[in-house]
Amino acid sequence: PSSKLPDIGTSIFTTMSALANELQAINLSQGFPDFNCPEPLIQLVNKYMLAGHNQYAPTAGVPQLRDKISIKTEKIYGYRPDPNTEVTVTTGATEALFAAVTAIVKPGDEVVVLEPCYDSYAPAIRLSGGVPIYVPLALPDFHVDWDAVRRRVSSRTKAIIINTPHNPTGAVMTMQDLEALASLTDGTDIVVISDEVYEHMVFDGKKHVSALQLHALRERSFVISSFGKTYHTTGWKLGYAIAPAALTNELRKMHQFLTFCSVTPLQLAVAEFMEEEHHYRTLPDFYQQKRDYFCQLLQPSRFEFTPSSGTYFQLVKYEAISQENDVEFAKRLTAEIGVAAIPVSVFYHDKADNKYLRLCFAKSNNTLEAAAKRLVKL
Ligand code: PMP
Ligand code: GLN
Repeated sequence: PSSKLPDIGTSIFTTMSALANELQAINLSQGFPDFNCPEPLIQLVNKYMLAGHNQYAPTAGVPQLRDKISIKTEKIYGYRPDPNTEVTVTTGATEALFAAVTAIVKPGDEVVVLEPCYDSYAPAIRLSGGVPIYVPLALPDFHVDWDAVRRRVSSRTKAIIINTPHNPTGAVMTMQDLEALASLTDGTDIVVISDEVYEHMVFDGKKHVSALQLHALRERSFVISSFGKTYHTTGWKLGYAIAPAALTNELRKMHQFLTFCSVTPLQLAVAEFMEEEHHYRTLPDFYQQKRDYFCQLLQPSRFEFTPSSGTYFQLVKYEAISQENDVEFAKRLTAEIGVAAIPVSVFYHDKADNKYLRLCFAKSNNTLEAAAKRLVKL
């Protein structure tokens, strides 16, 4: 049969994790913690399973979880979304992104994406018949060049996808960025899809800025987050989307047929665990310590890097070590040095190679030490 995505192969995350497993390399490639989630959270899942909460959840998400999301959102971003009409629990941020894009994009519509970007955006746009319009983030710090974005916006633009804190670069947007986006979309019907899955991983006293904080953006945005990142549970695939009622209504139509609902006992457990703010309030410090420790361990290496501002990823430039393209270099690093990383060119539609690797520091200190010991030898 003819493929709908002929140029898309297996994701780099699957490829590099499989290679790391096969070669028994230290896996700093795919983004996930190598430590467990909080034990009380596991006990809550157990509690709800034993109590019989093992059947379908309401399609929008269990009411308890939507309520907690709404309350937390008001606490941290000053806006309380209506849990009945503006909050939808999804099977990971991946599903929320796919549902948001497919809910609004029609054949011929253009969607602006900022490169490098997460791998799931463009396929969702293309499967909807839309056209991704790629605007590069500006080197060396991967900030958004809003004039460049403005030049690519037209009457065909249906949506703009942003991601802060940013995977893979660790760049963090400022309120000025959001204001620029608000002014750029003012008077248009452009929808903003704001991928904020790393909202609780921002360092050096900086603060995550959410599209929910600006009225002008909030009324045209899907804001998407993931419990997988916040609670060290990437394998649970639990996320959510907040959007105005009309957008939520369209997103729920997609969600209803993609998965119908997400795992019931997980939703109930997270809802109860979320009441305790301590976990997410201390997450920035927790990950900043990991980033600092890892960067300190890498200091003697020949990699060049600026400490990441957010996410659990650190970019490193390897130009002083090798002239290979980044995919070859990442594969050789896995095989010969025993450390798996993600080549950043895979986040560009034209595979632009700027000689960067992405390393995930959501790892135990032992893992970071073992990896750094190998990397400093290069
Ligand atoms: N967006 C970004 C930027 C991500 O890094 C990830 C996680 N890899 C996702 C979305 C998907 O999140 P989830 O695992 O909750 O589907
Ligand atoms: N978001 C994770 C990353 O960037 C990977 C998720 C996945 O494997 N699809 O590494």
